[in-house]
Amino acid sequence: MTDANFYRLFETWLQLEPTGAVFELETGETLTREWLHVLSGRYANALRRSGCATGDRVAVQLEKSAHAFALYLACLRAGFCYLPMNTAYRPAELAYLLQDAQPAVFFTGLTAEALAAEIVPATTKAFTFGPQGEGTFAAIVELVDPTYRTIELSGSAPAALLYTSGTTGRPKGALISHGALSYSAQTLSELWGFSASDVLLHTLPIFHSHGLFISFNLALASGARLLLQSKFDAADVLKALPRSTVFMGVPTYYHRLLTSPLLNSDRCRRVRLFVSGSAPLSADVHGQFEARTGHRILERYGSTEAMILCSNPLEGERKPSSVGLPIPGVDLRISGSSDEVLKAGTIGMIQARGPGLFSGYWNRPDQTREEFTADGFFRTGDLGFVDDQGYVSITGRAKDLIISGGYNVYPAEIEAVIDEMPSVQESAVVGAPHPDFGECVVAFVIPSDKELPPTAGEVIQRVKDRLANYKVPKQVVVVNELPRNTMGKVMKKELRSSLAEPSRRLVTGAQ
Ligand code: AMP
Repeated sequence: MTDANFYRLFETWLQLEPTGAVFELETGETLTREWLHVLSGRYANALRRSGCATGDRVAVQLEKSAHAFALYLACLRAGFCYLPMNTAYRPAELAYLLQDAQPAVFFTGLTAEALAAEIVPATTKAFTFGPQGEGTFAAIVELVDPTYRTIELSGSAPAALLYTSGTTGRPKGALISHGALSYSAQTLSELWGFSASDVLLHTLPIFHSHGLFISFNLALASGARLLLQSKFDAADVLKALPRSTVFMGVPTYYHRLLTSPLLNSDRCRRVRLFVSGSAPLSADVHGQFEARTGHRILERYGSTEAMILCSNPLEGERKPSSVGLPIPGVDLRISGSSDEVLKAGTIGMIQARGPGLFSGYWNRPDQTREEFTADGFFRTGDLGFVDDQGYVSITGRAKDLIISGGYNVYPAEIEAVIDEMPSVQESAVVGAPHPDFGECVVAFVIPSDKELPPTAGEVIQRVKDRLANYKVPKQVVVVNELPRNTMGKVMKKELRSSLAEPSRRLVTGAQ
């Protein structure tokens, strides 16, 4: 067996320069590669001592910290399957995930012991774990040897179990292999020109693939240093940018940075790359960011199951409203409803194959089978098209597709037209039941100026001037904000149910 444990990629850098810094904390303190190696080794020993065996799940619901990263690496080194849980999850959501995954161990914040007693399955050991690793696990860590030999694993060995963020339906656990982690970190490192002299400003949450695999793993495998911030805060990011070479975020972060007068090219003088992903970045934000900083944001596309599929190039044309080209190793195609391949320019279902794909859904063989085609392509659930230069654009989730009077209506196209209005900050388009057309278009709109919102007539006229009649909204709802999940994705299901249940309306000025 060739050893494919992802941690080996970091060990190479460790051997080269053990005293090299891996983290710089908000306090200014730096932590070395050796520090991370010794601590993750201790944690691996302590997990074994707590009864974890190879392949067991280790569930965590923890705030981001250098110690929490060490716990993640301990799992990789020892062949445990790391299961991070969204810190916003409430007890009922946690209980569901714990029942589904049956982890050997569950880590929670310092104050949540009582909660753990109620929701943790009988076969799961619960520990508390604070930002410095303090808590009930620390007592076990005290007892163990600090040295640990990273185990050899095959590329297909499970590394992590990530539950899909679940903007629709119940979350499903996607099993991610060591091979998928290594492939994506190595491919992105090369594609995005990462090196040991990079300083990655890390503000993303680490319970999601974006913050954990795309950002942290990439830095780790490239020997880069991470400037760790516990969460995204525009003021803190602006302070740290002059010391950073790379920043990665979701579109909401870029939107928030643009609201600060402090964002300018001088502040970004050391930055060589801004990356955006996890949700669509509007052409408007792309353009404004370039005007203010001189940087064209590099947009890329991936998902929990597919890791990373497309990226705009480091050198060459970075197209706004496009997620770029399939990355090396990825086979991507646009398919019709019988999996037939559609020609360039046609909108259809995005399907992809490649070494970064997940291995299947945890305990759901039927769903795994459903999500793959006979020739091994994953059905991403996204709709999009490929242009004549091979660039991919996403037009929305298949589940959000609106069929009005028999015509397919792609929300992204209408949103782009409405977003161009100076009086509109952002829009989201959904379908609503309609007695005649089956479904009709409804636009939710956040005004740029709350005192001067656009009228429904203005929004409707705008779309009428530019698009076919069946794409024109039948209703326009002005709102102060759009419901989003923690990765900044608009939850269209919530918008649709707000229309169905007037009492839950998010509306401030329905027209
Ligand atoms: P998640 O599993 O939470 O990472 O969500 C993955 C989904 O986010 C994808 O299937 C897309 O629908 C969406 N997504 C990710 N990146 C982009 C992007 N750059 N543009 C538009 N949608 C995106």
